[in-house]
Amino acid sequence: MRECESTMLNGRELATFRKQLLNWFHEFRRDLPWRRTRDPYRIWLSEIMLQQTRVVAAIPYYGRFLERFRDVRALAAAPQEEILRAWSGLGYYSRARNLQKAAQQIVAKHSGQFPARMEDALALPGIGDYTAAAILSIVFGEKYAVLDGNVARVLARLSAIRGDLRESLRWQELQETADHLLDPESPGDWNQAMMELGATLCTPKSPQCLLCPVAQFCEGRKLGIAESLPEKRKKRATVEVTLAAGVFTDEKGQTLLLPPPKNTKEKTSADHVPTLVSKMWHFPTLSVGAEPAAHLLAFLRRLMPEVHSHRWRLIPSGKVRHAVTYRAITLLPFLIRVRKLPRIRGARQVPLSDISGLPVSNLTRKVARSALAAAASVPAKN
Ligand code: SF4
Repeated sequence: MRECESTMLNGRELATFRKQLLNWFHEFRRDLPWRRTRDPYRIWLSEIMLQQTRVVAAIPYYGRFLERFRDVRALAAAPQEEILRAWSGLGYYSRARNLQKAAQQIVAKHSGQFPARMEDALALPGIGDYTAAAILSIVFGEKYAVLDGNVARVLARLSAIRGDLRESLRWQELQETADHLLDPESPGDWNQAMMELGATLCTPKSPQCLLCPVAQFCEGRKLGIAESLPEKRKKRATVEVTLAAGVFTDEKGQTLLLPPPKNTKEKTSADHVPTLVSKMWHFPTLSVGAEPAAHLLAFLRRLMPEVHSHRWRLIPSGKVRHAVTYRAITLLPFLIRVRKLPRIRGARQVPLSDISGLPVSNLTRKVARSALAAAASVPAKN
């Protein structure tokens, strides 16, 4: 293997670098549930959950998910709705859908065993380079180095790399550096050690260089620029989105939720709604401009033309704010009290005070809380 140009480590330095990082990892690693196993299903699940979720937030979900779906066959056979319910609150629900699709492929094509070959792992839905490298190195000891934003930050500081790390040539260089540094004797521990360094010491803000086991090799630190690396990427401009939702409630406190589409191509009854709302069970919702109440009312009438809606009074509830990647959402919930909930094909009736019986997004939970607060402060007319 060629010398690593960016870190300029010779053979002996490289050996010291590896030894110091691994010793540190073995002594200080956090005791995380997925580090107590080599079971591919459990490692895979942890990697998927951690893709967009912090460790602390993922731990309780991980335990509950495994209690309910204890192996790949149980996951493959489960109703999708149950999987989404177990995922509910973690966000980025395509992860859960892909997890099940991949489980079904593993059962159908690999006799229920997670594939040990890179090309087979990459062919599974939801598994990219990083996840495949992490699973194959940790479970099977395959020599693949992981590279994600966390590891890239550590490498950029070690080698004092400036510029946008996600530019393809620079990313390729980082991958070469990661491959070069990888300890071929224990690739799984090595990858976890790099991730641990990025997660606990070489953090985005205020890296703790005084505690760092490889500080003597760090160019960024020597130059006094570690904290400013990686350089900021140009941020995508924020897009403001305004939505309105109708929260029906009957005399028993039941409300009405619309179903997610059966597949992504199918339009929902609320096809103006951004997919972040309509991919889960949701209140009737649409994008609005000026006069949100009038827009919402017109939309509800289109949704259920046979219902007598002339007595509906739309009671504005507290605004809900929610951010998803570059979108800043303002959602205006309107409480609509009715004696009997209108019937909509495919819709479900659930208690407004406990909508967790169905898989719903955090946004929908916030809307329910806002509507409940409005219901408590505006007395019902008899
Ligand atoms: Fe990160 Fe500091 Fe260690 Fe360099 S010395 S790798 S900046 S923690």
